[in-house]
Amino acid sequence: MGEAEPQQEMDEARRRYEFKKTLEKLEAKEGMGTELITLYIPPDKQIYDVTNQLKDEFGQCANIKSKQTRTNVQSAISSILARLKYYKRPPQHGMAVFCGTVLLGGDRTDLECTIIEPPEPLNLYMYRCSSRFELDPLREMLTEKSVYGLLVIDRREAYFGFLRGNRIEPVSGVTSTVPGKQRKGGQSSVRFQRLRLIAINEFYKKVGERASGTFLAEKDFFERFKGVLIGGPSPTKEEFASGGFLHHEVQKRVIGLFDVAYTNEDGLAELVDAAQDALKGMDIVKEKAVMNRFLQELVRENGNAAYGEESVRKNLETGAVDTLLLSSHLRKSRIRMKCPNCTHHHEATVTSEGGVDLKTIEIPFCPSCVTPMAIAGETDIVEELTQLADQSGSKVMIISDDFEEGAMLYNAFGGIAAILRYRTGY
Ligand code: ZN
Repeated sequence: MGEAEPQQEMDEARRRYEFKKTLEKLEAKEGMGTELITLYIPPDKQIYDVTNQLKDEFGQCANIKSKQTRTNVQSAISSILARLKYYKRPPQHGMAVFCGTVLLGGDRTDLECTIIEPPEPLNLYMYRCSSRFELDPLREMLTEKSVYGLLVIDRREAYFGFLRGNRIEPVSGVTSTVPGKQRKGGQSSVRFQRLRLIAINEFYKKVGERASGTFLAEKDFFERFKGVLIGGPSPTKEEFASGGFLHHEVQKRVIGLFDVAYTNEDGLAELVDAAQDALKGMDIVKEKAVMNRFLQELVRENGNAAYGEESVRKNLETGAVDTLLLSSHLRKSRIRMKCPNCTHHHEATVTSEGGVDLKTIEIPFCPSCVTPMAIAGETDIVEELTQLADQSGSKVMIISDDFEEGAMLYNAFGGIAAILRYRTGY
């Protein structure tokens, strides 16, 4: 394994976090009327084609009845046109532009423009005017990259679904009509056994076809689909897996067979648990492992653990943090303030769910000269703490809250925790 790999994965996790947060902010924006413009430009689109259409749309605004909406749409278009001047061609993955007069609460509105260079290539061109921004094409990019097929089976029933990142998605089940082992009186034993085997075979065939069909229908099967996990009692699962019942493309992606007790929908979670080792490379396993390390340190006497923003921040500043653990659910910002009169400055953390409104922040007075402080800047707390961590060579892990220990990081420890190199007393 290359040294660079974990770093790349961490960067990837951070980028995803940033991207997700930007989408959440845009999601919260609303216009008074249908005046928010969404513009998707794929990488191969000519910028002048786009500007031509925008100029056209500008002209057509004359048909908009409401004067206010008309004015707002026209300002948005002008604003986009002004920004597009800086582009000779779209960026590598294309661009998404969100522009319009958004409501800020009260009677206040503001013309806002956001340009996003998406993490994956955009494959559509779209111009839309609506009361909200159209985010679905970008949201799709947030879906987890690795997908596994899950299948649990015994002779009575089978269930299949997906594991997407950390999330189990049940799809559907099949039940069999295979008769029990006990034959009814009057039936010939040989004939009964033969019928039973035929029924089992038919059942396996049906399961194989349906599960294969579901897995193969997965978008980007050949890129994203990492493998299939099969669970069930022995020898059913072995019999099924070696019997050629799955489509050959699915069959060759079977990662392993695992013992599970349930073969209904509940069996899928049991299967994922049983397959932990096989899924070692996956995020949830890594995140779980690091959370468990943190929890072990926490309960150990004089253990190397810290949690809560204040304590972790101090440990970061002294270079005592080995691994910084941040919940992907954190929505906070660090506000920097400075006194306009003297050299005093001050920082505070505020909640930033749906974006920070700097106008609503309580401004303290300078303790030295009793002048109201001025806001000097805002940084997302994950970014800010990550920078601090980088300065002392600490590792950073963004932990999702899709599993018990991950949810605990957010709920019990304020979303910020650390495994320490040594104890500091903070
Ligand atoms: Zn001052």
